[in-house]
Amino acid sequence: MRNIVIVGAGQAGLQLGVGLLDAGHRVTVVSDRTAEQIRDGRVMSSQCMFGSALARERALGLGFWDESCPPVEGMGFSIADGAGGRSVDWIARLDLPAQSVDQRVKFPAWLREFQRRGGEVEHAEATVPDLEEYAREADLVVVAAGKGEISGLFPRDERRSAHATPQRALALTYVRGMRPVPEHSAVFFNVIPGVGEYFAMPALTTSGPCDIMVFEGVPGGPMDCWGDVRTPAEHLARSKWVLDTFVPWEGERSRDVSLTDDGGVLTGRFAPTVRHPVGVLPSGAVVLGMADVVVLNDPITGQGSNNASKCAASYLASITAHGGRPFDAEFMRGAFELYWDYARFPTGWTNALLAPPPPHVLELLATAAENPRVARRFVNGFDEPRDFFLWFMDPAGAADYLAEVRS
Ligand SMILES: Cc1cc2nc3c(=O)[nH]c(=O)nc-3n(C[C@H](O)[C@H](O)[C@H](O)COP(=O)(O)OP(=O)(O)OC[C@H]3O[C@@H](n4cnc5c(N)ncnc54)[C@H](O)[C@@H]3O)c2cc1C
Repeated sequence: MRNIVIVGAGQAGLQLGVGLLDAGHRVTVVSDRTAEQIRDGRVMSSQCMFGSALARERALGLGFWDESCPPVEGMGFSIADGAGGRSVDWIARLDLPAQSVDQRVKFPAWLREFQRRGGEVEHAEATVPDLEEYAREADLVVVAAGKGEISGLFPRDERRSAHATPQRALALTYVRGMRPVPEHSAVFFNVIPGVGEYFAMPALTTSGPCDIMVFEGVPGGPMDCWGDVRTPAEHLARSKWVLDTFVPWEGERSRDVSLTDDGGVLTGRFAPTVRHPVGVLPSGAVVLGMADVVVLNDPITGQGSNNASKCAASYLASITAHGGRPFDAEFMRGAFELYWDYARFPTGWTNALLAPPPPHVLELLATAAENPRVARRFVNGFDEPRDFFLWFMDPAGAADYLAEVRS
């Protein structure tokens, strides 16, 4: 049995914590908020998770919302034509339904489950001196604090970080009363060239089923429009203005929406960043960075929670395989590189989608409207982004694939 401390009670920290408890280790999770504070606080994400990530949660006995969370059965895709219409518009089914469970619902339930299985929870906003203390007492300290300030302990990896500044002005609006798309439930993704992206999906929040609006505005552009918003009511009004102005078909569907609660709004921006995984404390002790702490991507492709889940599974396997040996810097670099062998793909693809779509991408997305095979491959790539590197990411691969599909 190893003694492991995890800082951060989020997607990665709690999933790893439960996995380690089940493997027979002693685990402490340090959380800067109680379960009640998380539940009563502000939304943090749109947290849409795809089939493989949900399967990992179910395998750990953590899939508590299969009955209560509305399934996301597919994905829709539109490109606005700038004149109130759409130049591309199609929808396709996911092979496995996705789910978005408000992290205000999920994390408190997982915290309680973690404690029920024998885990210890400490409530503190961990600082560097705290990490020193955990490192003295534990065999391994993992920092899974998401976008928390403590991630600054891990140096930015210039080679692997494509951006130094935020690429989108982000906003979330949790609502009730959105009209569903007619075909089947879906994350509906709209590209507004030069302006940004808007997508919406069904979800489960603290008061029951809802829909989540996600706004991704190009910085300095007309959808980077949240700076003067002061109240939740103003936030909702601004959300409706964006829809009516740039994606009127979405405005129509959201004509009668109301906020789920005053905490159901969020705005912010951050620079997508890859960091070195080993945090060196003043004493020379080392701690291991995890999930968003080390690979933080823009939410445009909805990969962050899915990556956090993948990272938890990957680190669990690395820790288990390490047996009784010391968790030194070499172990930490090795564990991260195994995760990066996967994470480099969603990271590369996400960064590509932040740039204006090149001609081969526009051709693929237009072809998907007539060809269900292309549409199906695109939407299911969200659950397996490595596939995009075989047909989507470069013009030659796209040309080969389109030739095959058309022949
Ligand atoms: C607008 C937006 C939309 C998103 N939409 C999606 C989506 O649709 N699909 C998807 O997969 N991902 C999405 N994401 C990303 C996803 O939410 C994150 O990538 C994911 O939650 C990261 O998991 P994590 O465990 O690394 O961090 P988190 O889940 O953020 O957990 C970190 C926890 O650590 C705590 N903490 C921070 N500092 C400390 C400290 N010093 N001491 C103790 N505790 C601390 C925090 O309070 C938090 O509870 C979105 C993100 C944003 C911002």
